[in-house]
Amino acid sequence: MTFDVITIFPGFFSSLLEYGVLKRARAAGQASIRLHDLRDFTNDRHRTVDDRPFGGGPGMVFKPEPVFKAVAAVEAESPGRPSPVILLSPQGRLFTQGLAKELARQDHLTLICGRYEGVDERIAEHVATDEISIGDFVLSGGELPAALIMESVVRLLPGVLGNEESAWQESFTAPEAGPLEFGRALLDFPHYTRPADFRGWRVPEVLLSGNHEEIRRWRRQRALEKTWRRRPDLLAGFPLSEEDREWLGALQRDADVPRRELPAIISSLGEQKL
Ligand code: SAH
Repeated sequence: MTFDVITIFPGFFSSLLEYGVLKRARAAGQASIRLHDLRDFTNDRHRTVDDRPFGGGPGMVFKPEPVFKAVAAVEAESPGRPSPVILLSPQGRLFTQGLAKELARQDHLTLICGRYEGVDERIAEHVATDEISIGDFVLSGGELPAALIMESVVRLLPGVLGNEESAWQESFTAPEAGPLEFGRALLDFPHYTRPADFRGWRVPEVLLSGNHEEIRRWRRQRALEKTWRRRPDLLAGFPLSEEDREWLGALQRDADVPRRELPAIISSLGEQKL
């Protein structure tokens, strides 16, 4: 998979490419990341990429010309099927594991990193095919969001993670869904390693029992419980088995939280007869 990143700070990405999954995927030829300095697509002596906003107000805005030129150059280098041109923006579609999986199906993505007050709206409207936000907060530039998206997409590419299983059984990924299917989500179950007793805190006995069925059930229950306590919104879209419903029903009965204080989503689950 190829990523073309358009940025005024190509150097920002150097450490990212030297570690972990991105380093390995690049070395193995599974991912290629091409960095384009937006200033290379300017015509003036000062290599100007920004200008003052029409209508007044503080800050500077990315001019359209350099960005349009940069995207055209990227597209000329990668002829073939049109591929997504993503503008990083706090106003975009919220990035999730599901969206990462959707993007991992592409063989080419172009990422445009904004700066300052943002970019001329015509970039969003006429050259970007998508706008993606990494969360409801504002950063100073699209470089961290682009890095984050590349990291989460590359680790989903077939063969990139040593053990293919490990991408499947994580938070936000239903184990029964293949690595490229939409994640219907549960949070991950807790993990433990040696020592079995650390400062008196013992690893749950069941994990030492060697009883695989018991371990499977324990993990499923912990994942359901964590999700129920921390991210009940995720349960709404999750296909619960009969056993899951029984367990959640028991949790709900034992909960010390008065029912009326439970998030609305749990109440609606309750109505479905847990
Ligand atoms: N004035 C803009 C924010 C500009 S922040 C607004 O309020 O919407 C400058 C740049 O940082 C943006 O153009 C975008 O590329 C990047 N950025 C900031 N926060 C982001 C977020 N949550 N997700 C993705 N990109 C973000």
